[in-house]
Amino acid sequence: MRFRSLFPYFWLLTLVWHSLVAAAPISVALESDAAIGLYTSFLKDQTSQLKLTDAEAIYKSGKFLQSQSPFLNFGIGSKPVWIHFSVDNPTGVPVTKRLSIETAWLDSIDIYVKHQGINVAEYHLGDSKPFALRPLNSRFFTLDQRFNTGVSDVFLRIETPDPMVVPIYLMNPKMAQHQEIEQGYSYGIIYGFLFALIAYNMTLFIGLRSSRFFFYSLYLTMFMAMNIAYTSHGYQWIWPLSVKWQLWAPPVLMYFYSLSGLLFAIRFLDTKDNSPRIYNAVLWYSAVFGVWLAAAIMMDSQLYALLSAFTFMSLFTIIMLFLGGVSVYSGHKPARYFLLAAIAAMVGAVLTTLSTWGFIPLNNWTFRAVEIGMLIDATLLALALAYQFRVGQEEKIRAEQLAQLDPLTGLNNRRAFYDKTAPLWSMTLRNGRSPSVILLDIDLFKEINDNYGHPHGDKVLVVISNLLKKLIRQADVLARWGGEEFIIYLPETSPQEATTLAERLRSEISNIRVPHSTGETAVTASFGVAPRNTQHATLDSLIATADDFLYHSKQQGRNRVTCSSVSQ
Ligand code: GH3
Ligand code: MG
Ligand code: MG
Repeated sequence: MRFRSLFPYFWLLTLVWHSLVAAAPISVALESDAAIGLYTSFLKDQTSQLKLTDAEAIYKSGKFLQSQSPFLNFGIGSKPVWIHFSVDNPTGVPVTKRLSIETAWLDSIDIYVKHQGINVAEYHLGDSKPFALRPLNSRFFTLDQRFNTGVSDVFLRIETPDPMVVPIYLMNPKMAQHQEIEQGYSYGIIYGFLFALIAYNMTLFIGLRSSRFFFYSLYLTMFMAMNIAYTSHGYQWIWPLSVKWQLWAPPVLMYFYSLSGLLFAIRFLDTKDNSPRIYNAVLWYSAVFGVWLAAAIMMDSQLYALLSAFTFMSLFTIIMLFLGGVSVYSGHKPARYFLLAAIAAMVGAVLTTLSTWGFIPLNNWTFRAVEIGMLIDATLLALALAYQFRVGQEEKIRAEQLAQLDPLTGLNNRRAFYDKTAPLWSMTLRNGRSPSVILLDIDLFKEINDNYGHPHGDKVLVVISNLLKKLIRQADVLARWGGEEFIIYLPETSPQEATTLAERLRSEISNIRVPHSTGETAVTASFGVAPRNTQHATLDSLIATADDFLYHSKQQGRNRVTCSSVSQ
């Protein structure tokens, strides 16, 4: 027989073993921090009418079902449930144990302890009652019970429209206290981390005025608020008197958590511009669920509010994946972080769900995977925002660079010429050095355009630009000054050197031949060279002098260089 075919038998064996364990009472001597679901049996009260005596009678007739999982789970909107377990105290002296039911949102929990057929204690808990009435100051439903020698029976009746997950623990009070402190620290870390991110991103929003940071902070704030509500940290510390809010907070905050997540997503992924139809669909979807939730609240139906909120939130997780996927597919790079973040959050939520339903082992990590997933989600989204910011900065720099270049020739334009020469000019003034400016204008360029067409004129401009680029020195600033006019700023050059350079450029330009369909174009240029002297208080006045000399060259018959020494 193949090993694999044994599996069903193993499974059956485990079931039998579970029911055997469940049949046994829990000994007070047992020191375990595990949930005691396997020791319990339960009954769904279809009539919602059963009293303790009825439940006891049914229990005795053997009609309670044994639990197959350490965590009892009856789903959302369940009928009231009766749960039974017995506690054995073989020690001979009374032993106090801490009983706690660690789902903070259960509305109504009635607990009856019986010893040898006599009611010894009765508690009425649940978050539909003011916090102050709890026997112990805990966000869970917790009490210390003294168990006398022999076997005691414990009956619990639980009623709630929320997901009825019932993890029951029976621990040594010291151990329980230790665990509560440990949990307190872990929540301190989670809330501290989220709070720091929220505060930092709000600061970024104020400083950078980008609504992305605002929606991100809002999303994290809503997650934190929702978590504070459903873990009952809020009820314990912030709103112990608001019984009504405690009941309505989970669905309301779940809705706003999902809504703020969607708002962040469509803002971050620019869904409005990229896919207006998806954008509209998301808004309609949110509005429909908003109306459903509002109607449920007005009708005072907690169950419908919860159904609306849970459906909205489950679909929200899928929509986040979808939005991220679509955006990655269309090549939006920051969306990759977004998609990873959405996956982390989803995996967390799924792990927690699977572990509470008993499909995977339940421990502190799997149970709180949803929170860990959210921390990863928050971190990745912060990275996504940073990445998007960096890309934005780089694009801005590139746009600025492009705005400085002449598109035809790739030379500096007039604005870039001023940007680059301004610091050189002011340094020149301080050091008393003398720069020069060469201005040159192509001769009879209009004729080239007229004879061979504008595109050919462009080609000539490009050829001349390339030649100029090649011949100037690195420290010189070359720019296209106008249509067929160029300017060169020479930072530290004597008038002779400047004239020599201009002469060389003139001669090289006159050697250029640009081919066209019927032959080739020859071209010449006229030059004005202005070295700085004491009359030039500004760069513009120096350029004006160069322009005068250039005009002089044109007047003298073109294809020549005019320098100060010539004209003055
Ligand atoms: P001059 O020797 O007196 O400078 O004569 P010119 O024909 O060069 O001077 P004018 O200012 O009359 O004509 C300049 C021409 O340059 C007119 C304009 O259409 C042309 N031009 C300006 N920018 C461009 C351009 O980017 N490409 C082309 N193909 N032509 C241009
Ligand atoms: Mg010209
Ligand atoms: Mg001109």
